[in-house]
Amino acid sequence: MHIITYLTTIHFGSGALGSLPAAMQELGISRPLLVSDHGIASTGLLERVTSLIGKDVPTFLDVPTNPTESGVQQALALYRQQGCDGVVAFGGGSPIDLAKGVALLATHPGDLAQYAGILGGIPRITAAVAPLIAIPTTAGTGSEVGRAALITLDDERKLGFISPHLIPKRAICDPDLTLGLPPFLTAATGLDALSHCIETYLSPRYNPPAEAIAVDGFARIWAALPKAFADGADADARSELMMGALQGGMTFQKGLGAVHALSHALGGIKSLKLHHGTLNAILMPPVLRWNADAVPAKIARLQEVAGVSDLAAALERLNRDLGLPATLSELGVTRAMFDWICERALADHSHQTNPKPLSATDYAGILDAVM
Ligand SMILES: [Zn+2]
Repeated sequence: MHIITYLTTIHFGSGALGSLPAAMQELGISRPLLVSDHGIASTGLLERVTSLIGKDVPTFLDVPTNPTESGVQQALALYRQQGCDGVVAFGGGSPIDLAKGVALLATHPGDLAQYAGILGGIPRITAAVAPLIAIPTTAGTGSEVGRAALITLDDERKLGFISPHLIPKRAICDPDLTLGLPPFLTAATGLDALSHCIETYLSPRYNPPAEAIAVDGFARIWAALPKAFADGADADARSELMMGALQGGMTFQKGLGAVHALSHALGGIKSLKLHHGTLNAILMPPVLRWNADAVPAKIARLQEVAGVSDLAAALERLNRDLGLPATLSELGVTRAMFDWICERALADHSHQTNPKPLSATDYAGILDAVM
């Protein structure tokens, strides 16, 4: 196991999960709320955590596919009822984001909405946030080192809650936890991580350290994803993917772009329950083509790293090889939804940091290219 302190303290490597009891002790957590989901509980992975911290640990499993305000409130009620003093999040991005909401409201008064970034909530979130340990079971979202939580409010607005205080106090990244991840989820979560590295690298904000991390993460994921997809038990590929996903999360602060503006909007269509990583995989090629003339040198650099001459076309091939859908219509998206989607993409926080500005019509054109 390696210990890396960058934004937060990260325990990384095969077997790192074993450091959970010591991390809890260091952070003064004696009675944690464990936040995970039913999918993970059904794989038996959850027992690896409860065997370390006690079988009677209060556990919240009803995390929706995309975290909701009511989910946060339910978990918070359990946290209070059980007298918890910290949160352990175990799973993909959804349990980790929901746990951030619980850690926030455990110590901050009032409704969740007032803490949303676009509603002026950033300075209202203080260092009093309850201690949170994040343990990812996918190599994808990077939420374990991210300062944002995306939570859908009861009024259906999907909002970003953003603060350095929401970064988990410990991220325990144990690639062994991803060895049993099925090929489809390996592909979809891996492409989410790849999209974080690409979009933060192309973001116009000045942050060369973040760009260097993003390019390194891009290289690792590009090389390791096909290997982990072909052989889920390839421990080296799993480790490289987990590091690439972590690196994507380390660079979020530079801002994402149009891929995420659209996938956040599409993820808000309640009737479809679309998978974030799958959406990003489909959206990356047309967005890269849109951005090509705004950031030619950066795209050339990524192509050099990947050893390809046309990154958008190479990503389309990769999606095909990994068995991912090529179009949004296959997922149930219709042209009648475009106005709704584009309006929300324009209001999304990731819209501001795309390297080339887009109008609602431009967003519709990108959607149309993958129908
Ligand atoms: Zn993402």
